[in-house]
Amino acid sequence: MSGSDEHGTPIEVEALQLGVKPRELTDRMHEIVKKLFELWEISFDNYTRTESPVHKEFVKEFFMKLYNNGYIITREDEVPYCPKDKIYLPDRFIIGTCPYCGYDKARGDQCENCGRLLEPRLLINPRCAICGSKPIWVRTKHWYLDLTKLEDRVRKYVEENTALPENAKQMSLGMLKEGLRPRAITRDNKWGGIEAPPFPGADDKTIYVWFEAVLGYVSATIEYFRNRG
Ligand SMILES: [Zn+2]
Ligand SMILES: [Zn+2]
Repeated sequence: MSGSDEHGTPIEVEALQLGVKPRELTDRMHEIVKKLFELWEISFDNYTRTESPVHKEFVKEFFMKLYNNGYIITREDEVPYCPKDKIYLPDRFIIGTCPYCGYDKARGDQCENCGRLLEPRLLINPRCAICGSKPIWVRTKHWYLDLTKLEDRVRKYVEENTALPENAKQMSLGMLKEGLRPRAITRDNKWGGIEAPPFPGADDKTIYVWFEAVLGYVSATIEYFRNRG
């Protein structure tokens, strides 16, 4: 089972730069990738895509299960937005001058010149990586997966799982030692692709790609058996 991972801001931005709709771009890419697998003689029982209706339905159900069991909380935060492109900008789509070394093309997540980790707020003269406009900060509400409530269960799973490679296990235990924090599972971008469930104030939100893409392995399996009847 596998499939094309089609959502997220980098795809939205690439489509914007090419002047096409995100779905046009991912339709094209999905066909190219499928063809490449054929050329390499790699076959799947089901090679699907995260735009599949079966996947979208499964992700929404999964989201609602977490919500009904009390694992979803909301928070408000300020995020950068480009008024010209009308798009919320991920950290690496903001460029500006590094406050540490003065490099003038540092990205909002990291300075490539001095290697320091950054935050968009730290950049001097920040601008949109797509059009060069100055981003504005807007307040927005998001739905978070409250991982703190799942910490004990995740720890038990990691400790008792004999199939995990040692490095993955140690890295996970390291994160657990620092303590898990709630993590946003919604975004404001139009091309999250999967609409967030209709909570008050969630009309324009989409489900964050990190949360839904990996669920694609499960939904691809569901789709496979559904297709077989
Ligand atoms: Zn720097
Ligand atoms: Zn812009």
